[in-house]
Amino acid sequence: MRMLWLSLLTLMVPVKTPVTALPLRTPDLPIRPHAGLSEADQEFAEAYLRHFYGYKPKSERRRRNADTDVDAEWRTGLCDKVQKMQRFFGLPPSGELTKETLAVMKRPRCGLSDVERFGKTIRWKKSTLSYRIARDNPSIPASKVHKVFRAAWKLWSNVTPMKFRKRSRKEADIVISFYNSDHKDGSPFDGKGGILAHAFLPGYGIGGDVHFDADEDWSFNSTGFSLFAVTVHEFGHALGLPHSRDPGAVMYPAYNFAPSYELQLSFRDVKDIQHLYGVSPNFASLFSKKPPPRTPDKCDPHLSFDAVTELQQEVLFFKDRFMWRKHPQFDETAITLISSLWPDTVPPYLDAVYENVEKNVIMFFKGHQYWMLRQLSLEEGFPRNISDFGFPSRIKSVDAALHFRNEHCTVFFTGHECWRYNEQQKMMEGSPTLIEQEWPGLPSPIDAAVFYDGFVHFFRGNIHYKFDSNSKHMVSTSPANDLLECTEMNGNEIL
Ligand SMILES: [Zn+2]
Ligand SMILES: [Zn+2]
Repeated sequence: MRMLWLSLLTLMVPVKTPVTALPLRTPDLPIRPHAGLSEADQEFAEAYLRHFYGYKPKSERRRRNADTDVDAEWRTGLCDKVQKMQRFFGLPPSGELTKETLAVMKRPRCGLSDVERFGKTIRWKKSTLSYRIARDNPSIPASKVHKVFRAAWKLWSNVTPMKFRKRSRKEADIVISFYNSDHKDGSPFDGKGGILAHAFLPGYGIGGDVHFDADEDWSFNSTGFSLFAVTVHEFGHALGLPHSRDPGAVMYPAYNFAPSYELQLSFRDVKDIQHLYGVSPNFASLFSKKPPPRTPDKCDPHLSFDAVTELQQEVLFFKDRFMWRKHPQFDETAITLISSLWPDTVPPYLDAVYENVEKNVIMFFKGHQYWMLRQLSLEEGFPRNISDFGFPSRIKSVDAALHFRNEHCTVFFTGHECWRYNEQQKMMEGSPTLIEQEWPGLPSPIDAAVFYDGFVHFFRGNIHYKFDSNSKHMVSTSPANDLLECTEMNGNEIL
């Protein structure tokens, strides 16, 4: 309830909009809740929510005759769908069509809905499925495509008892095709970008079939869209899996494949497909050394962080390829991919991050390199070497960075030492000091640090140390994940 109330508030009280900029209200049209966006963007967003979140706008007639109640109802309907979409993608669930929300909507993705809930399990009743490639893509070599399909089936057959056989002529359970634009199944493709592919859930006829948008720049390496990554996802649908809101899952709806990352089924994908088809007899031996990767869980009592930073009014907690965003207005802190906010620029497994409000930049550190981003874009010439800050050559990486907005300085932590960097003079202030002297009671080395809510928060392993920097004493120690509001309504189960 609280979320809805907040979202209504944000719709009704455009606090930051100057009075003169308020659009004049036309009595026979509902107020567009997102006055900052262009008409085209609003239409795009509504079409997106209709297609992927089951948004049903009131009929034009009803809109024209709308009185205030219907008006509000209409806005709430849209708002509710925006929130659902924001929760799915780990965005602050404001219900507002923010620029960031729109940017996520515009990312390349799968054409299937995100709110498809199946009343009953849909799966194939046999354990050997046949597939056939009906329409090749003339611009890519068929042999390469066939090899990709074989490899994609293998990921699913490694974990279940299912077998997949290719047929060249006869009818097959799963028919795979490359199509341009409208191809007469009610879901036309949209040219380059946007929707990349779609698939049909198991069944007769078109059931289980997989369609790729032939207009995409499909690739087998690091340029364009990885045909392998998209195929593994679509084959998941062909086997009966819906979209997962776990950003680490192959069944996540957005294209989030990073060339540096070896594509594999996540723990969640494996659990979901094994729920449908059971466990492969080879599963234990195949995965004993390297089990399918689990997405970090904010309720895990062993959770530790790579880095923590403030970013505008939010606090961001980084872990592996993921991050949680703690927004002061919302109780929920959802997990999302780092790449969902900063596509292809910020590396995973970061060492330290801080925001420099004065310069309006955010700094990321990993190993001997650092990246500087303004807004969402990488500044020219980055990444650069951390020696820029004046570290001697013995310092190969930093553990954490703590930025003090008022003092215009950043404290870097390396091992048992800390270094004070003057952001205005762009130089280190004197020699490093010992952490135990500067921060009595704090063990070292540390993982992450952030100045937030008037206190300095340090993280080491699964422990959070809250420090009062004025009186120089430790206020409390608690579990590292205590700021993430771990509740029953946690993580990937809700929607
Ligand atoms: Zn999909
Ligand atoms: Zn199709």
